Amino acid sequence: MNPSALKAGGGCGHDGPALPLEQARERILEQVDAVAGRERLNLRDALGRVLAEPVSAAIDVPNHTNSAMDGYAVRAADLAEPGGQLREVGESFAGHPFDGEVGSGECVRIMTGAVLPAGADSVVMQERTERDRDRVRFMEACKSGANVRAAGEDVACGQTVFEAGRRIGSADLGVLASVGAAEVAVFSRARVAFFSTGDEIVPVGEPLPPGKIHDSNRHTLFGLLSELGVEIHDLGIVPDVPEALDDAFRRACEFDAVLTTGGVSVGAADYVLEALEKVGSVGFWQVAMKPGRPLAFGRLGKALFFGLPGNPVSAMVTFIQLVRPALVKLAGARPAAALAFEIPTRRPIRKKAGRREFQRGRLVSNEHGLAVEPFGHQGSGVLRSMSEANCLINLSPDQGNVEAGAPVTVEPFAQPVWNGD
Ligand code: AMP
Ligand code: MG
Repeated sequence: MNPSALKAGGGCGHDGPALPLEQARERILEQVDAVAGRERLNLRDALGRVLAEPVSAAIDVPNHTNSAMDGYAVRAADLAEPGGQLREVGESFAGHPFDGEVGSGECVRIMTGAVLPAGADSVVMQERTERDRDRVRFMEACKSGANVRAAGEDVACGQTVFEAGRRIGSADLGVLASVGAAEVAVFSRARVAFFSTGDEIVPVGEPLPPGKIHDSNRHTLFGLLSELGVEIHDLGIVPDVPEALDDAFRRACEFDAVLTTGGVSVGAADYVLEALEKVGSVGFWQVAMKPGRPLAFGRLGKALFFGLPGNPVSAMVTFIQLVRPALVKLAGARPAAALAFEIPTRRPIRKKAGRREFQRGRLVSNEHGLAVEPFGHQGSGVLRSMSEANCLINLSPDQGNVEAGAPVTVEPFAQPVWNGD
């Protein structure tokens, strides 16, 4: 199909009108497979990477039954009543087990994490005892199994600790270390290329002639891609010249995914769709959302292609809503649904029914509870609104204006631990 005919349709995409967001996401995700490459890495190098194979435990964790307290290892049967007395016959320290056996009428002084000696079945905490040389008096009766951590209680030998597709976080590194996994198999990092389009775009650090603007999108995308841990290939700026775009697209075919910003709308100098049609293939164009309507998805050879709008806020919102889940799947993991919940808006929100809108807001917590403060200026060119926001207010197509105090759905996108007031 001729892209100018697509555009002349006034909002008609390859397969008809602008796609609802959920459909767009589904259509993208069904096109995405995990990257083919695999590698084995030392445990620490695997932080932030995605497991390509399940990991099962080669040992029990803990691998010996041990004490959860500093105190005395005992036979509970000896202490059926309060006030019992036992003879201390040795010590068991973490890393230095007692190698004898605890007989009837005996106890062993034991530290947290130390192996429970043979014969003992319970531990009494030190604070509940009184000691006089090798005589220990126990104030309370003891229940069998008290204060004991059983071997394999955390992870049993042979148990799968993580399935393939798990992205490894800090706690996971610890779990993997505890089961003895010094190396793990992970997916290779997805190779993601991006470039900006536009005759007005000048790299930061260069003088700005009249009518030009600095390229902010490539920096925002660099940040967003870095957070995902993909391999980043910055291909620079391409002018609004069809041949230059065709060339850039041909060069970009070798990557796993390609992102562009700008030139994908209905303007006279918007050539991204034409180039995609010529060099690759168009999956769909235009999503029924604001900001972010003029988004093109398709393929450049094997590469997934995302033509994001040039407006900085639109580029970022479409990345979060549509590109990020796709790159998560490309990395070998399962994309999680956005964390979304309903809270009252502190101010009225103006919104036209009929399309999905993402407004920028800030979560505020005070004595009245959690609420969201929408920003006054919601223009899609105002990137500072994104920088100051910590959530998107997700307004569904059937929703119109919202009164102050009414509930709205929010999706936090910044970790609340950062950038407090
Ligand atoms: P376009 O989608 O090409 O029509 O661009 C929409 C708006 O976004 C225009 O005001 C552009 O100047 C602006 N824009 C496009 N690309 C960038 C970029 N890389 N950095 C900052 N602004 C941009
Ligand atoms: Mg442009």
